Amino acid sequence: MSFAEAANEFPLILQIAVFAIGACVGSFINVCVFRIQKGQSITYPPSHCECGKPIKFYENIPILSWFILKGKARCCGCRISFRHPFVETLTALVFLALWLNFEPAQAACYMVFASILIFCTFYDIDTMTIPDAATIGGTVCAVVASAMVPELHDARMADLPAFASHLKGFGLSVFSAAAAAGFLYWVRLLAEKALKREAMGEGDVILLGFIGAFCGWKGAIFALFAGSIIGCAVMLPLVFWECLKPKQSGGLGLEIPFGPWLAAGAIVYVFASRWVLPIIDSFLLLFAK
Ligand SMILES: [Zn+2]
Repeated sequence: MSFAEAANEFPLILQIAVFAIGACVGSFINVCVFRIQKGQSITYPPSHCECGKPIKFYENIPILSWFILKGKARCCGCRISFRHPFVETLTALVFLALWLNFEPAQAACYMVFASILIFCTFYDIDTMTIPDAATIGGTVCAVVASAMVPELHDARMADLPAFASHLKGFGLSVFSAAAAAGFLYWVRLLAEKALKREAMGEGDVILLGFIGAFCGWKGAIFALFAGSIIGCAVMLPLVFWECLKPKQSGGLGLEIPFGPWLAAGAIVYVFASRWVLPIIDSFLLLFAK
């Protein structure tokens, strides 16, 4: 029985497997976020508690262990952050949704994309920076994936030899990365001139290039606008709440990372592109006239 036949025969088993793989990847993302910001190796030493004791494998099951242990380490009783099961569940759900919405090859590429975005999101929340290794390395992954799976950029041309489609996917990915990063670079320069202070990090510029490499330049523009809107919708109530406080300690005490909102906009685009793309295209036609 081929893989495709097995997938048709037992869809639920594959869906559970995809969810479990997502949870494990989420667990690894947690490790990467916590260790890389401390400058530690991500492979050695193996999982250990804050008190230094090693964590047994059955205490290290993604999502489940946190609930079984009720959020407390068995060795020393110290609290384990809810961040752990949250990131694991989030990654697992995104993986499952991708699996249910795309062909396997395309879904696999988007799983890599989503994993890097989730990593960047939580790293940015912790440190207000995004490591270039993740975004530049991710852009390289995106270009390779786009050459292998032209469907990522809708670049499959049925009437031409397969080689042409792969070349088109590669070209669109490289062009979109440069266009998206270039566009945000200028926006950042202008904003800096206008505000006379740093408006956004350089990491955000490279992050949008990475998003463009996977989603195309239209996807990157969508992620920029959708991300800004989602960010405002979530943050405005918080900023307003901050303003209501009786004592202000010089300006708003909130420093807001932009990366997580860009990442959220990109994920929305991946799922919504089939409805959003025609709208973007009709907008662009207005300018072309
Ligand atoms: Zn401990």
